[in-house]
Amino acid sequence: MHKDVQEVLVSEEMILKKCKELGKQITEDYSKKGENPLLVALLKGSIPFLSDLMKEIDIDNLKFDVMAVSSYDGAKSLGDIKINLDLAYSLKGVSVLLVEDIVDTGVTLAAVKNMLYNKGAKDVKIVTLLDKPGGRKSDVYAEYIGFSIKNEFVIGYGLDYNQSYRNLPYVGVLKKSLYE
Ligand code: 5GP
Repeated sequence: MHKDVQEVLVSEEMILKKCKELGKQITEDYSKKGENPLLVALLKGSIPFLSDLMKEIDIDNLKFDVMAVSSYDGAKSLGDIKINLDLAYSLKGVSVLLVEDIVDTGVTLAAVKNMLYNKGAKDVKIVTLLDKPGGRKSDVYAEYIGFSIKNEFVIGYGLDYNQSYRNLPYVGVLKKSLYE
């Protein structure tokens, strides 16, 4: 275990097993509807999850795209997000499956979901590796959830603290002494 980690919350083995379960469920749900979702990952934290999850989705011609967004400084309104990197694909009539690392307040995700509908998406669903229901400040929810966790600051498997720890293969709680 990394010296800055207080506790491993979700091990690498648990993550990979969960990706298999989620991938199977997503495959079944979309195949049943005869739909081919476009996976859209929000940079940068979702990249390891996108990479492991997409290998478990058995749908022909599955495509993915990435986007990067940030909140405007001091913004409180749901619509106030800035696109730092936009999608390459048109979303007209497309079923989007947003791939997230963690849903906390849900404020960013609510705004992104809105924006994707405004770009013409037919349907927007969310798959998140981690959910912190205790932090929610919007009514957004994920259709597919890997693990529900308590309200603690976590790092690893894409999640950072000051851009570090993204490469840890597990999700862990960062020692509080490092940021308090
Ligand atoms: P929300 O709009 O749901 O509050 O923001 C979600 C984003 O906040 C996530 O994509 C992630 O970048 C960041 N975030 C929320 N909780 C945590 C956490 O415990 N650890 C880390 N590293 N980032 C978090």
